[in-house]
Amino acid sequence: MTNARKSREKRKLEETKKAEEQIAIDVAASMMEQYLVFNCSGTLGHLHSCDTNCGTSKMTDTEIELYEEKKRWDALGMEAVGKPHQMPVPGIPVDIFHVEMSLLTLIDAIVEAGVLSKEELDAKFSENMLERLTRIREANEENVKAQRARMQLGVSPTPEIILPPNVGRKH
Ligand SMILES: [Zn+2]
Repeated sequence: MTNARKSREKRKLEETKKAEEQIAIDVAASMMEQYLVFNCSGTLGHLHSCDTNCGTSKMTDTEIELYEEKKRWDALGMEAVGKPHQMPVPGIPVDIFHVEMSLLTLIDAIVEAGVLSKEELDAKFSENMLERLTRIREANEENVKAQRARMQLGVSPTPEIILPPNVGRKH
């Protein structure tokens, strides 16, 4: 293949790719206007595993409201979902705000279903907190005291708290 032909084909490929990207953007824009999402992902993009024939469905009223609220936040330059400090290790991204909202939803559902009252849940929360704090302290006490002693002698940095592997499980 000649170089001229190679670069012609490369250009053609790039143009095709650009056109496909523009189509995807147009489709997403029109879906947004109609509050539609793809069935495979529940968003404006297909999952990698999807053959793109999954179809669309309309967002629920609450999802539409959330979407509109997010737009209001964007218009104000406000960031609705914060990010925790980057940890120096690669891994799954974590989102504390979503976790918190999931917990609040669960708590509301449990209270509404009459499984536990808010007071009983609060009491359980305190019990779990106490149990976990006690367990972590007990697992670290000796180590931290020893490290603190070394620190006072100027031979060790600030003590590091190590979480025992069984933390969070009741035995
Ligand atoms: Zn799909």
